[in-house]
Amino acid sequence: MIIGKPFRTVEEIQRRVRELAEKISSDYAGREILAVGILKGSFMFFADIVRLIQVPMNIDFLVASSYIRTKTTGDVKIHADVREAIEGKHVVLIEDIVDTGLTMKYLKELLMKRNPASLKVCAFLDKRANRKVNLQVDYVGYVIPDHFVVGYGLDYENRYRNLPYIAIFKKDSAEGIQA
Ligand code: 5GP
Repeated sequence: MIIGKPFRTVEEIQRRVRELAEKISSDYAGREILAVGILKGSFMFFADIVRLIQVPMNIDFLVASSYIRTKTTGDVKIHADVREAIEGKHVVLIEDIVDTGLTMKYLKELLMKRNPASLKVCAFLDKRANRKVNLQVDYVGYVIPDHFVVGYGLDYENRYRNLPYIAIFKKDSAEGIQA
């Protein structure tokens, strides 16, 4: 596996995750949250941030996919739904990356029908320039330009999720895989 230099290093990621966790802890002080990780991509970010959030919480996961290779489609498939009741809870959706916003808009609308007390979105990466829908992302780690990135939970064809840093993915047929 040939992977180039980090686009966001392990140290930068740790620092930014800590800042996001501090903000969420202060915004939800005195309340309990239901943190919902959107899998697979958010598994690493989710595990990092929930350890640092200082309010009582319940955790759950939702397995969704909308990405075929490096193209986004509007079709969101729910492979496994949240098992916790949503009604009356302060729900925070934890996502790896928001790109066009189609996936998150769909998921927000799905969960809003279940009457949460509140519903906010925390995305580690935000490719805001690509947005196709109006979507509020309440907590953002980094706004990034339109690169296809891998690592820190993000994949290309289900690989590279385990990289501890974020790299820009490029496929060079002569050289194999580079980032
Ligand atoms: P959206 O519906 O916002 O366009 O896409 C959201 C999903 O697309 C993310 O959850 C993620 O799975 C995938 N995605 C968007 N941009 C990237 C990227 O740069 N790298 C990877 N690995 N996945 C991406």
